[in-house]
Amino acid sequence: ESTEVSLKDIDHAANSSFPLCMRHLYAKLKEDHHLKHAGRMQLGLFLKGVGLKLDDALAFWRAEFSQKVGAERFEKEYAYNIRHNYGKEGKRIDYTPHSCQRIISATPGVGDHHGCPFRHFSEENLRAALGQMGVSNRAMEDVIDKAKNRHYQVACTLTFEAIHSSSCDRGINHPNQYFIDSQKILQ
Ligand code: SF4
Repeated sequence: ESTEVSLKDIDHAANSSFPLCMRHLYAKLKEDHHLKHAGRMQLGLFLKGVGLKLDDALAFWRAEFSQKVGAERFEKEYAYNIRHNYGKEGKRIDYTPHSCQRIISATPGVGDHHGCPFRHFSEENLRAALGQMGVSNRAMEDVIDKAKNRHYQVACTLTFEAIHSSSCDRGINHPNQYFIDSQKILQ
């Protein structure tokens, strides 16, 4: 069973149901009209997992990247990778979206925006991001405490619970699970 998100719904879905790792990539893409390879993989496979079809995915990335590198360079250098993620190029493997465990163990460098904010953000940046998501001050301290103690997925689960005013008993193990559970509550 899977949800489907079309191009016109993405902004709304990002705002309401993306976990922090994907919100961050999404916001940076909109801001910079660019993401490095690992970020494109992390967000691109997540979007595929939420049900974005290949044509919509190409349109989505083209709309951003062409503002930075131009439409021609987008087609030459980036479109292939997007089709590749959908198993339409190269070895034709249908790549699956990354789990929390995989994202948490990433090692983002300077200028990278992939990874898990609960692990990879400074405390200051994490507080700011949580505030923007609508996490109250009271819930914030719990979340920060869990992140400091390296319980990143628990921190994410508490964040989910705080902004949905609803419990998430099974915990967050996968960004796409976060999305599906959020949509269930909101719809
Ligand atoms: Fe994303 Fe998982 Fe980290 Fe939450 S715990 S921000 S879903 S990687």
